[in-house]
Amino acid sequence: MFCPRCGKADQMPETYCRQCGLFLPDLSKPLKRERPPEEHLKANTVLSVMTICASFTLSFLLFLVLGFRDFTHPLIYVTAGILLAIGAWHIQTLIRTLMLKEQWKRRVSLNEIQAAPHETVTVKSTPTAELLDQADFADAIPASVTEHTTRHLAQHLNPKSRTD
Ligand SMILES: [Zn+2]
Repeated sequence: MFCPRCGKADQMPETYCRQCGLFLPDLSKPLKRERPPEEHLKANTVLSVMTICASFTLSFLLFLVLGFRDFTHPLIYVTAGILLAIGAWHIQTLIRTLMLKEQWKRRVSLNEIQAAPHETVTVKSTPTAELLDQADFADAIPASVTEHTTRHLAQHLNPKSRTD
């Protein structure tokens, strides 16, 4: 294939151009569909909820089944504590994701207003014709007059006519 920037031939797709360094994508492959941010936010919410449930349940079970016995190894408490911390951490992640979701929704609706039809724009702006006064040609000097005056002036500036 050819580089679209510098035109160097015999190049492999999915590599960088040997001459100018431009990345050459394989255009024969179908383009990957980009996931919209809402989908990532939704996935984050679900994953956070799942992590919170799993870590709290596991830590509860650890304390219930293995904890507070004579033979309880300290590692059980450490693990249960870490699981609790993970759960707490994911609660704040969930809160942040929900806040981000709200923010995203607000931004999208704001963008929709800004990208809205031109009606809103034309209603606000006043047509130029209404702001300006009608042109007044009463004092305008016709071109023939100015031409005549200039010719007259030229005659006056002429040393020959000054002697008259
Ligand atoms: Zn190139």
